[in-house]
Amino acid sequence: MESFAIRSYLDAVTRLNNLPISDTREWFFHHGMLFRSRAKWWADFGTRHATHEGLDIARFRNRAGRVQWLDTKTRVPAMAGGEVINVCGDFLGRSVIVKHARDEVSRLVSVYSHITVPSGIMPGIRVEKGDVIGQIADTTGKKSGIHCHLHISIMEIANHIPDRDITWEIMGEPDLKGVKLYNPMVW
Ligand SMILES: [Zn+2]
Repeated sequence: MESFAIRSYLDAVTRLNNLPISDTREWFFHHGMLFRSRAKWWADFGTRHATHEGLDIARFRNRAGRVQWLDTKTRVPAMAGGEVINVCGDFLGRSVIVKHARDEVSRLVSVYSHITVPSGIMPGIRVEKGDVIGQIADTTGKKSGIHCHLHISIMEIANHIPDRDITWEIMGEPDLKGVKLYNPMVW
């Protein structure tokens, strides 16, 4: 993946959903949305149970100068080409794990969370950069009162962990041997 892929990814989200954004810099990131943050950006703005494993994408300033949130109509593109290796549940929706590269030790994956996933997106299929892999899930009924958003993680996962075992049980355990997290913002 190219460096600072997040910029081109935010542009891809903008284009795919025809969002009224004039520039990538119009996306807003509360501290709690950033990688490794322990802050919540919802409810009481308290402390998370664990440090954040990725980046939350949710808010931008539109061309009219108003703050706008992504909603459940927002379609989610793949960051880069790769193979879907697992689809699993998360606490707000579902997650899709896409493998982009592999060597003798590990594979590099991107993870898209809190989304709904169409039936055609399943382990074994190939996706290209920009392909739609899901849509942001409706989280309004959740007790946390969290606004719907897209969570992105970039991880390296050791080859001894089988594809089907790559779920939040292991991805949410950053101290677990075999999972290395990257900051999607500077990838
Ligand atoms: Zn998140």
